[in-house]
Amino acid sequence: MDFSFSEEEELFRKSVREVCEKKIAPHGREMDEEAGIPSEIIKDVGELGLLGIMVSDKYGGQAATFTKAAIAAEEIARADTSMSVAVYYLVEAAWGFLFERYAVEKAKEEILPDVTKGRTFLGIASTEASGGSDIASTSTTMVRKGGRLLVNGAKTYISGVREAAQYGGGFVTVVKTDPASGHKGLSLCYLPAKEFPGVTVSTSRQMGREGISNGFIKITDAGVPEHYLLGEWNEGFYYAMEGFNCARPLVAAACIGAAEKVLETGITHIKQRKVFGTPIGKFEGIQFQLAENYARLESAKMHVYKAAWMLDRFYKEEKFSRGEINKAVALAKLVAPTAAFDIIKDVMVWHGAYGYTKEAGFERALRGVTSYLVGAEGTMNIMKIIIGKELLGKEFSPI
Ligand SMILES: Cc1cc2nc3c(=O)[nH]c(=O)nc-3n(C[C@H](O)[C@H](O)[C@H](O)COP(=O)(O)OP(=O)(O)OC[C@H]3O[C@@H](n4cnc5c(N)ncnc54)[C@H](O)[C@@H]3O)c2cc1C
Repeated sequence: MDFSFSEEEELFRKSVREVCEKKIAPHGREMDEEAGIPSEIIKDVGELGLLGIMVSDKYGGQAATFTKAAIAAEEIARADTSMSVAVYYLVEAAWGFLFERYAVEKAKEEILPDVTKGRTFLGIASTEASGGSDIASTSTTMVRKGGRLLVNGAKTYISGVREAAQYGGGFVTVVKTDPASGHKGLSLCYLPAKEFPGVTVSTSRQMGREGISNGFIKITDAGVPEHYLLGEWNEGFYYAMEGFNCARPLVAAACIGAAEKVLETGITHIKQRKVFGTPIGKFEGIQFQLAENYARLESAKMHVYKAAWMLDRFYKEEKFSRGEINKAVALAKLVAPTAAFDIIKDVMVWHGAYGYTKEAGFERALRGVTSYLVGAEGTMNIMKIIIGKELLGKEFSPI
């Protein structure tokens, strides 16, 4: 057993941190409250090779391991604790990886180099108004017609709709191809979003991470080219689950990055802030909270990097079963957002009235990590169902 990162991973972390602190951190508040992610930041992150980081170098990526991808997610979220840039990054990292696994060569050559260069956005469009947790109930349809894939339906609460419509790009999209077959009647296709006939997007204001848009996609008779089908017809449920397994450890890594940065600020504060003539860090009521929060952070980190480590071995050495991966990934996604929320909330309170100001920025981080408590990339209850199923057996699954 080895709990250390390799020298290469440490150097990678250092270089990502340096750039993120310089280029992203100064824009945190403005991105969240006013302007969205500035295009220069996307360019800088792209130049670092972080966009579509797990895509092969053939298409401009780094073919990075999940461990490296998690390190970058952590570091980006440290610099932008609102999580906007981290979300932009991690959605492309995970779904870019999935895209490369299942797209045909022509589609990969067409789509991926623009994503890795930061010219276009690649996201995931699975959720519908009928409920994001129940993917089998997808009602957006896709049929073969006149040499095209005809898509009709609507997607809700999709991250990056404005970016994809503006810069170009599109979404790995879950569609129903055999309405009679439940989850076995789903497929995946790539749906372009910029000026694509039949596709319109609209945005919805979110509680947090406002630097990246979120909203709706309306799809009316959109004729998608045949080569945008991902993988096999009616196998889309399994690919989507695989994609979520790739995204969730990165989500969890981003949560611990934001929480770690905030906790560091908290430690500095409780050593300096004197009340009743004593640094508040000397009071047991505060120090015990610090210890508890540190334990939460370290525990979440273990889950994140264990899941990433397992995924690296799963894909490279065919180690671990899908069930083992599902459980490890769900544990990371269950533990990290909760830990991050608790840590940020306590640090905010340690700062007294100042902690409640916009200037302090804790509210921004709190709003950002809450997105992952609510359900982006899978809700907490769904993570518990996945873990329960692995512990008790399939026959105990409520869904
Ligand atoms: C900020 C943000 C960004 C998002 N970005 C994207 C995106 O880019 N692409 C995309 O496709 N989706 C996106 N989503 C949607 C997200 O995937 C869904 O919110 C999530 O899957 C849950 O779906 P839902 O919101 O419809 O809630 P529902 O599925 O309706 O669930 C409602 C509540 O019921 C609970 N619940 C459901 N089933 C069970 C059960 N069997 N047992 C116990 N409790 C249950 C859930 O845990 C949840 O608390 C985003 C969401 C947010 C908040």
